[in-house]
Amino acid sequence: MKSLKVFMLIGDPVAGSLSPAMMNAAFKKLRLNHIYVAVRVPENLLGDAIAGTRKMGIAGLNVTIPHKIAVMKFLDALDESAALAGAVNTIKNSRGKLVGFNTDGEGALRYLEEKVGKVKGKRVLLLGAGGAARAIAFSLLKAGAELSIANRTVSRAKELASLIEQKLGKEVPTISIDRRTLKRFITNTEVLINATSVGMRPRIDETLVTAEMMHRNLTVYDIVYKPIRTRLLLEAEKAGAMTVDGLGMLVRQGALAFEIWTGKRAPIKVMEDAVRREIGKVVG
Ligand code: NAP
Repeated sequence: MKSLKVFMLIGDPVAGSLSPAMMNAAFKKLRLNHIYVAVRVPENLLGDAIAGTRKMGIAGLNVTIPHKIAVMKFLDALDESAALAGAVNTIKNSRGKLVGFNTDGEGALRYLEEKVGKVKGKRVLLLGAGGAARAIAFSLLKAGAELSIANRTVSRAKELASLIEQKLGKEVPTISIDRRTLKRFITNTEVLINATSVGMRPRIDETLVTAEMMHRNLTVYDIVYKPIRTRLLLEAEKAGAMTVDGLGMLVRQGALAFEIWTGKRAPIKVMEDAVRREIGKVVG
């Protein structure tokens, strides 16, 4: 048997993460002698953790809050996905060289396209300008969506828009998240994506958009997956809109990381089943 390869999730907190169940199920399905563990790494120990990754020959990492941006300075190279998003969620150790990738944007896009078909030419309104929103914005634009961005802090949305213009040469409108502006804008929107943390446990009653601001031809995609049926998605159901939940993105960003590490096709169904079993245990 080939020697054991160790993969890790680093972040703070990591308790309750669904990734170990998802990745270990995939390794087992493909009979790989690999193991995946979640390790809490406080902010001040990130440099030591990356040095340890090199010294111990850890084969790959997933990186979560709060390290997605800070980790970049410790790496040897960045894939285009990470360079564009300005954040890393996956690291591959290629014979001692640590390369950073970002699979959030592509994972979100893949799941959306599985649900609604190609996004090329579709009018998409993205709520949020944080780490996940940035990655998703670049993937959507590269796939040809007509994107607009709304964020609580409008200056952050504008910063993202100017970064997009600089990197892709595309102009992206930005709007505020006040209800009247959003409602007017959504009338002419085909896909609404929530990439803010609004609606995430424990504040599950919160949503930026309610049913009366939506229409039947809208698709509503919430990347928040704790809980799976967020208030936003419940409002979308009330409005007769199509819903897409965040679990599919979680599985697909994980599947892309798996493929980067192993060079093998990820067993998506096995990963999704493992996540659904685990989520029942950790978030009820
Ligand atoms: P982040 O970088 O901290 O960004 C947070 C975003 O939420 C910002 O745009 C922020 O607006 C906005 N926000 C926070 N509280 C708000 C409020 N009360 N009202 C309006 N806007 C608010 O976080 P992130 O890493 O992008 O993650 C965002 C969410 O996506 C999290 O819930 C995370 O769990 C989820 N996520 C899911 C997946 C998946 O695979 N499904 C992957 C990655 C992330 P400001 O700029 O104004 O602060």
